[in-house]
Amino acid sequence: MNAIHVALLMLMLTVAMPAALADSPRPPVAAANAAEGIAPGRPALEFINTGFENASPLQWETDADGTVHVRLLYDYERNSPNRAAGHWHFQLQGRPGSDLTLVLHDFDNIYNGKPGAAVSKKSICYVSPDGRAPSGRAPSAGWSRSVVGGSWKVVPAEFLAGNLLRVRVYLDGPSLYLARLEPYRLADLERLLSEIRGHRLVQIDTIGKTVEGRPLEIVRVGDPKAPYRVLLRARAHAWEPGGNWVVQGLIRSLLEDDETSRKCLKRYCLYVLPMANKDGVARGLTRFNMLGRDLNRDWDRPADPKLAPENHALETWIRRMTEQGKPLHFAMDLHNDEGGGLHISRPPIENLQRHLDRMKRFEQLLRKHTWFTEGSSGSKFRNPGTIGEGLLERYGIDACILEFNCNWIAGLKQHPSASAWEQFGRQLRLVYFDYFDEVDAASGDAR
Ligand SMILES: [Zn+2]
Repeated sequence: MNAIHVALLMLMLTVAMPAALADSPRPPVAAANAAEGIAPGRPALEFINTGFENASPLQWETDADGTVHVRLLYDYERNSPNRAAGHWHFQLQGRPGSDLTLVLHDFDNIYNGKPGAAVSKKSICYVSPDGRAPSGRAPSAGWSRSVVGGSWKVVPAEFLAGNLLRVRVYLDGPSLYLARLEPYRLADLERLLSEIRGHRLVQIDTIGKTVEGRPLEIVRVGDPKAPYRVLLRARAHAWEPGGNWVVQGLIRSLLEDDETSRKCLKRYCLYVLPMANKDGVARGLTRFNMLGRDLNRDWDRPADPKLAPENHALETWIRRMTEQGKPLHFAMDLHNDEGGGLHISRPPIENLQRHLDRMKRFEQLLRKHTWFTEGSSGSKFRNPGTIGEGLLERYGIDACILEFNCNWIAGLKQHPSASAWEQFGRQLRLVYFDYFDEVDAASGDAR
């Protein structure tokens, strides 16, 4: 076994046993470094790697006491004072056995025209030796519930005056990934799509392209002749991966071919736009699309095909569904924020009360079937131009925004994780099953 074989073996062991390694006592650093031929004078931090998908654009420097200052770059909204930086995802490369202190800068966002910090005392950070996401198995070959866990874990972050965040990490090996949340990248979406493509209950249609030409898919799960139709959109905002994990959990669970999924798919057909802001996700941006448009704004008017092709494609698809006699009965847009909760749409329409009654019922079902506990926005809350407001006002679709708290899941008393969000998606199956039962009974005009 030569040195390359040893290195490969070490790599395989690292990939196979991240949890065990993370929990093991620190190795004798000098001995480990000597074994790897690392000179004692090697700096603790050699490089910050952002040359991969979803890595955040940033600048960095190390000060005299060794603290690493990471300055995130904002993305900007067109014709607006709004700017956003809240996503971080990068790889530290340095000397194994090093303790590193990082200070993250530039969270001074402007949101809806007002200053607002993207982090708080509640903020946390995720680290992983290999950046690996949890994975599942293909449904066609004896679809199994078992999901292989990823390697991300939470480390504390300290909120400092001036909207800074200090994070202390330990380099077990020569590199360590840091991220705001467990990332869900285009590669993760591709893996899901290749897993389900060809399934008899799945159809994947490309409905348009992003500003940079990436394909936008609508994933249909179920029988298009089912009496009800649900649309879920995820990832309008690039920094918010929660919705991607949720729709992955929902899609996988509906394809399990168990009694629950069979009865659900007799009642409703699911349509998902899994990653609206693919360009932003690929480039590690925070909020806006590549031409400075917020994909969860301006839904009170037709989407601009040049500046917001992601919204134009979705709106064209929604209109076509309606024209084909297959209107949507429910639409939900999935987000992350610092609070969590269901944002109820209240545009000035006739029969708003009927919508509010249905949403009350929906919230009750979320509480009954999922770990949701955060509650819904009050009667004074309005955020005109969101997709929830726009689809209700302009297309008569019962539509809402669901925010997932990015720091804490109160219903589970734990920090967010990919598996907790996938679990939520699985639990959503029965929410819609019961919701449409009620809609059916309450009014004849729902179909
Ligand atoms: Zn959002």
